[in-house]
Amino acid sequence: MRRIGWAASAAGLALALALAGCEAGSRAAATPMPPVKRLVLITIDTLRADHVGVYGGPVPTPAMNGLAAEGARVTGAYTPTPSTAPAHASLFTGLHPWHHGVLENAVPLVGVPLLAEHVQRAGIPTAAFVSSYILHPRFGLGRGFDTYHFAPSRPYVWRTGPVPEFWAQGDETTDAALAWIDAEPRERFFLWVHYFDPHDPYRPPPGFEQPRDQPISLQGKSLPPQIRSFAQLAALNRGYRGEVAFVDAQVGRLIEGLRSRGLLDNAAVILTADHGEGLGDHGWLTHGENLFEEQVRVPLLVRAPGVPAGRVLEGLAQLEDLAPTALHLLGVPVPPGLDGHDLVPWMRGEATSSPRHVVLGRRKPKPPKPELFYEQRGAEKWIGTRDSVGVVFDLAADPREAHAHAGEEPPAALAKSLATGTVVAGSRLLDPESRRALQALGYLGDGEERPEESGR
Ligand SMILES: [Zn+2]
Repeated sequence: MRRIGWAASAAGLALALALAGCEAGSRAAATPMPPVKRLVLITIDTLRADHVGVYGGPVPTPAMNGLAAEGARVTGAYTPTPSTAPAHASLFTGLHPWHHGVLENAVPLVGVPLLAEHVQRAGIPTAAFVSSYILHPRFGLGRGFDTYHFAPSRPYVWRTGPVPEFWAQGDETTDAALAWIDAEPRERFFLWVHYFDPHDPYRPPPGFEQPRDQPISLQGKSLPPQIRSFAQLAALNRGYRGEVAFVDAQVGRLIEGLRSRGLLDNAAVILTADHGEGLGDHGWLTHGENLFEEQVRVPLLVRAPGVPAGRVLEGLAQLEDLAPTALHLLGVPVPPGLDGHDLVPWMRGEATSSPRHVVLGRRKPKPPKPELFYEQRGAEKWIGTRDSVGVVFDLAADPREAHAHAGEEPPAALAKSLATGTVVAGSRLLDPESRRALQALGYLGDGEERPEESGR
């Protein structure tokens, strides 16, 4: 069993910073920067990196582009799993899914210390504003937040039927976050805002529909099982783009709300996504089904003191890295034993390359399809089962992952990480009240818990 210490102490901070320096490899001499006063983490559900304007995407996204212009953009950021709760659990624990134990949605995260707990313990006010039932505090991510706001107002059609109050639209979440900011003056805070809008169904609010004659390239796409025609697939892609435009407007409202209140001074903003979306690539509409780029590559933008404006970071990162990165920025000790790396020296130019040389990830079993893993090193991406030879893609020559080559045994970094096992086996146990609530909402059958991320 792995042991992770989260004791906050000056000695711990010194050790953690020293370790961070070792990880970063060669680095220029740098004057330590003081901690930021405020850190704002924005996670956007279901946002493919390649649909963000600054990543070359088809949606202008001026707010996200502006964030990239004021800070750093990581070109190779990945989720360890294309599923909401396990991906957010990795972000908040700094651990791979097979180490924190949340391997699918609606499985509570227990026993593993969280980013927000550590920040709270350091005396910094914490608040979260989330927009999906999948992040309900009963699943464990509320630990460490003084305020954890979830006020669903919108229905969602789950695979078993309609759920009347499942998610909140981005403007409602932004309003709530800005109201919290205005409720009382706070010199320091850690604020997490989660948006759900790009998740299916793709029905952008009025004013954000994309023009019906907007050209939609379906190159490389094939019809997902539930889609009848390419015209319908094009319409769904158009709807998704409208949702991305809408959520970008909400990011803009939040950022400008902070700026106009003078709260962006000496503050950090981190924006990312929990996973991408199929949109017809590799024959899949939503997410959770495979480990191709459209489902696992996410945007990662970081605006922070010391990070040069407009910096483009060509290298790898994954969501696990954001816990140690956020702690470093806030001046809170980074615990040892994390799977994540502190990205701050790389982002500030104190290290010449990313401390992460390999990305690891997993997709849960989807019977009769097996549990899948991936390891990406440079442009080479391996996908396979725990004990198979798998397949390899050359992302440089074949970015659409159309030509699979025979692989070898599971690569060394993946095999070594999987061999260390999980931290908390009990994470898979639901308490009776949560089980009843989920059954009432139609998530769970009477027997095995097998909630699906999507599946309309
Ligand atoms: Zn999600």
